[in-house]
Amino acid sequence: MKSSFFQRILVLLPPDSNLERHISNERCFFTGFPKNLSLLIEPLTELEKCICSIALRAKWEANIPTEWVWYGDSICRLLNQGVKIVKRGESYHQKVFSESVDLMKFYNDIGVILFFNERLLRDIVIVDVQWFVNAFKYVITDQNHFLWLRMHDNHDWMYFNQTGYLKDSLLNDIWKRRYSGHKHKEDLLLYAEQLGLLARGESHCRGSRVHYVPSMNKRSFDSKGKHLFESVQNRTTVIVYQFEFFPYFFYFRLIVAMISAEMPFNILDEAGDYLYKDLACFLYKGHIVVVAATTTSIQIQVLHRKNEMQRDTVIEIRNLIEERLKEITETFQRGCRYTVGYQCSYQEVYSYLSDCFVQEQDILGKATMSCPAHLSQNSHQIREEDIVHFWKKL
Ligand SMILES: [Zn+2]
Repeated sequence: MKSSFFQRILVLLPPDSNLERHISNERCFFTGFPKNLSLLIEPLTELEKCICSIALRAKWEANIPTEWVWYGDSICRLLNQGVKIVKRGESYHQKVFSESVDLMKFYNDIGVILFFNERLLRDIVIVDVQWFVNAFKYVITDQNHFLWLRMHDNHDWMYFNQTGYLKDSLLNDIWKRRYSGHKHKEDLLLYAEQLGLLARGESHCRGSRVHYVPSMNKRSFDSKGKHLFESVQNRTTVIVYQFEFFPYFFYFRLIVAMISAEMPFNILDEAGDYLYKDLACFLYKGHIVVVAATTTSIQIQVLHRKNEMQRDTVIEIRNLIEERLKEITETFQRGCRYTVGYQCSYQEVYSYLSDCFVQEQDILGKATMSCPAHLSQNSHQIREEDIVHFWKKL
């Protein structure tokens, strides 16, 4: 009876809603008022046990000082008054800025406010997270949700939808029509950059400012990109950051950080010709740095147009990117682990061969060895020096 009831519930769910993954036959209990009240006791006990077992799971565990509860209450009252964003020194700041950074970080982590204890952001708190989400909901969208804009604006939007390049004038237009928060524009952009949603363009007085939204870029790696690889005289092997579970936005956050003033990289071509949906080229001290994402990894390769690849520079590039990756992955829930390794032979970073990954720790200190990724099929020898020469930290 229980399973047939459960099946009937499944049939009632809207198709393609994915709701069924949230319910389970094992957590299906009957309650009610049978004629014989003693029958009621058992199902309720089972239900209580189930609720307790979920509530007692270790992942919910956190020690929170009881006085912190009042902070949530105070944020709730501000929301009811229509407050969206609070800056240090402005009205309401005493209610929002606590002396305890841990308290504010905790409320950021559970999604009540947006707060980052970083140089550019620590004096601004987004009190209304939904208001912040709405700001970009109308920007990062698909064609079906964009029909409301006038036809003559479509050229800029079509360009944005293809390349991720967002003209500031288009952003202003979208926000003026759909969103009441544009007076806080610069603060919103700053936050969006921190979250990896977009890289802010520099301010210009004559309206040529352009932002970059990596998730909107739909360009595939093309012949121009391949030609770049063919035209260089020197290249490193491909270093791979292989994730157990790879949230794709890590790649977007890395790209946004590399474009922003936060990191000392320049994009290879200002017009964005070498920015693709899953690959981006940068310049650093005369070296071309190519960052690519696969479904499970972020991969880096360094190229040099002449035969002047500098080992010190490649190691600097590695350190800069790894520092940033560490920050990005550590701020995600309880950390997201990855393993550092290489493609086991000379390949291009856009090849995306997933079966050629060898861990760095398996290679270091072994001059020559059988490739651990190809022990049975396609077996071959690898030399430590060939693979880690440019990347090996001194
Ligand atoms: Zn191999």
